[in-house]
Formats: sequence, structure tokens, C-alpha cells
Amino acid sequence: MRRLLVVVGLVVGAALVTVAVPVVLIVVSFARTAPIKGGVDLVPGVFTVKEGFVSAFVVDLGKGRVALVDAGIDPTAKPIVAELARRGLKEDAVAAILLTHGHSDHSAGCAAFPKAPVWALEADVALAEGRAGSRSPIGRLAWPRPTGIKVGRALHDGETVRLGKTAIRVFAVPGHTPGSAAFLVHGALILGDAADSLKSGKMSAAKWIFSESVAQDRASLKALAGRLNPAEVRVIAFSHSGPLQGLKPLLDFAANP
Ligand SMILES: [Zn+2]
Repeated sequence: MRRLLVVVGLVVGAALVTVAVPVVLIVVSFARTAPIKGGVDLVPGVFTVKEGFVSAFVVDLGKGRVALVDAGIDPTAKPIVAELARRGLKEDAVAAILLTHGHSDHSAGCAAFPKAPVWALEADVALAEGRAGSRSPIGRLAWPRPTGIKVGRALHDGETVRLGKTAIRVFAVPGHTPGSAAFLVHGALILGDAADSLKSGKMSAAKWIFSESVAQDRASLKALAGRLNPAEVRVIAFSHSGPLQGLKPLLDFAANP
């Protein structure tokens, strides 16, 4: 009986540690980040939708059409649909969804826009579709399973996607995931999970617990800084933290990555 109690105690203890340790690490890793601001325009033509701890971004393409950069964690995309409605738009206004990367807190909402093609950098297509799993410390705890997403177009580093009259520049910033992307549109540089803003106004690298290689992420951000002109970046946006103004936070980060 005593031996049984010890075994039960060990199993319960191990389960608690397995759950508690990641929760504590997640809370600590977000303690210094600047809060997300939902429902506001980042720049004219790009606004943020807040879904709890994650953001999605809506890009105005003109003529009542929009593109999404990420689609949030809610499979019914309720917050995005509500924000579109507030601006006089319906779900079918969404012409395309560009994923910053294949993690499900950025892609689950794709299910709510079945007519919109989903695009992602080639190296994250399998992750987005659920044919490959995440190799981050947290991601290794889960098995990959099909997400129902079919990526219709694999994007490539350096290309410019044109939707109507809107040009969206695509940059590969591998590290958080192998196919992490940054998008530059209407002067907003959307970095997804490749970086975060701090309450101090500085930028930090990807969170290690969710990332496959923070060293690669830092190198990617440094390289990205060298490819951008300060005149073309008005704001930097992050998925799990608030925006920072101008390119300077990225340039400062790159000077001391
Ligand atoms: Zn992620």
C-alpha cells in the first residue's frame, strides 16, 4: 500500500512539474514585454486584432478587400470577423492569408476563411499543415497532427507579393521556426514571433522556449536590419507584444544582438 502511494505521489508530482514548469517559464518570459494594443491602426492601412495573448494583422488592399497577416488562435476567428464587421467588411473580403510562421496560435483562424488562399514561407509549409512538428522546447511535447490547412503558395525570401495595388515584401527570418517570415507592407514591418517589444522600448529576440534556434533568430534579425531602409519602416509589429515606432529598435538590436 505504501509503495503504491509513493508511486502515485511520484506520478502526480511529475505531472505537476511537467505542467507547472512550462507555465512558470512562459509567465516569466512575457513579464518584460510591452502589451498588445488591439483594434488600433499600426499605420494607415494596417490594423491589429488582439486575440488574448496573440495578434493578427489586417492589411487594407483597397476596394473593400483585405489580406490577413496571421489568422489568430480562434478557429472561428471571432475577434477578426468582429473587427472586420466594425469596419463594414465581411469574411469574404479576405483575399489571402499570409502566415508569419506555421504555429497554430497564428494559423488556426484560417479555418474561418475557407475561400482565402493561405501562403507561407516554403520551410514552414509542413509545420502549418501539421505534417511536421515544432522542434522548440515546448513544441517537442506535442505530436504533429493535420491542421486542415493547405498552403496554396510557398513564399520565398526577397519576393514581393502584389495584391491589387498593394505590395507586400517578404523576408525570411529563420530561427523561431525554419520558415519564419517578416512582412513589410504600408510601412509596417510585421515580425511575428521572430522578436518581441519590451516595456523599455527595446526589442528582444524570439522566446527560446517556443523557438527552434534563438542563435539563428538573432542572426536573422541582424541580417534583416541590414536589408531595410529606415525611411521605409514606420512601425515594427510583433505577434505577442505591442508595436515599436520606426526601424531604430531593430537597428539598435542588430548593433548588439
Ligand atoms: Zn510561434
